[in-house]
Amino acid sequence: MNKRFEFPAVTFDKPLLSLVVPLYNERPMLPLFFERILPVLATLDLHWEIVLVDDGSEDGSARFIRSVIERTPGIRLIKLSRNFGKEAAMTAGLEHARGDAVIVLDADLQDPPEQIPAMVECWQSGVDVVLMQRRSRAGETAFKRWSAHLFYRLLNRTSRTNIPVDTGDFRLMSRKAVNALLVLKERNRYMKGLFAWIGMPTQVIQYDREPRAAGETKWDYPGLVGLALEGLTSFSVSPLRWATLIGLIAASMGAVFGLWIVVKALMLGDATSGYPSLVAIISFLGGIQLMSVGIVGEYVGKTYMESKQRPVYVTDEVIENRDATRQQASHTTAGARHVKAV
Ligand code: UDP
Ligand code: MG
Repeated sequence: MNKRFEFPAVTFDKPLLSLVVPLYNERPMLPLFFERILPVLATLDLHWEIVLVDDGSEDGSARFIRSVIERTPGIRLIKLSRNFGKEAAMTAGLEHARGDAVIVLDADLQDPPEQIPAMVECWQSGVDVVLMQRRSRAGETAFKRWSAHLFYRLLNRTSRTNIPVDTGDFRLMSRKAVNALLVLKERNRYMKGLFAWIGMPTQVIQYDREPRAAGETKWDYPGLVGLALEGLTSFSVSPLRWATLIGLIAASMGAVFGLWIVVKALMLGDATSGYPSLVAIISFLGGIQLMSVGIVGEYVGKTYMESKQRPVYVTDEVIENRDATRQQASHTTAGARHVKAV
């Protein structure tokens, strides 16, 4: 009866840090990514896991990651069934992350992994959100910098949620913050806004944003304008109010102008001329009406998309090296479905 219980080698004394990395066609980046991130993680006195979300890459990114997973413990790949966009990919990663703290970072190394220890230190001192604010944006055109600046200012003017200027998705969140975020089930996911909406004690760290190490940005200007519109209309209904206001101003101006024409005709008897001004007024009002209908349409469209209740993303498969991962502490909270071991 002298049976000794053997406790598993898994230790629960250290917290688990999850890195969530959305990626889309980042094959040229990946070797460099692991080269830079793994040494940084090795210096941490924590357990860690990397949750890579393959957002429907077509360049063999998943194949390469699979080969890395075979060799390295602590890496999981969530493969989405097609390209759903970065916002959806991040949501997938956050849902699959098991960590006590989660860091979201881009695969293109624009969010320098060397900042991770400082972020962790901040979190361990008791804050729930560590926000990374860009001090500089190397490798980005002056126009992009200017338009980004303008957009953040506009967004904060119009919404009640204060979205910090010059912050991207690069940030650390405690489990409490992640859980709060995961409760938000909306389909139109403007993540920067959602991140800000949850609140929580936050600390800002400034860093220098690096240029992309390889590959190309996935954002073109139409895409960025779309994201900006998404951000504006997801977080405030004030554009609807602008439409009303502009309509009111235009109508008042029309009334004053009409009155003036009547008075002028009565006094001077000149009722026939004024064709150019008529055309100008009609096209001005027509433009305002179209714009207002467009703004209303934007919200109706959003309501329509939400009402369909579709999932934000579809998982194709989850790939992890179970044997290797078992050596790490597994804080299994969000049990992954369809787990496929390699
Ligand atoms: N990304 C993604 N799905 C997409 C587009 C981009 O997961 O549809 C990822 C991309 O691989 C990268 C991150 O989101 O890791 C940021 O993308 P990118 O560098 O193109 O954006 P930028 O840094 O220029 O804003
Ligand atoms: Mg980038």
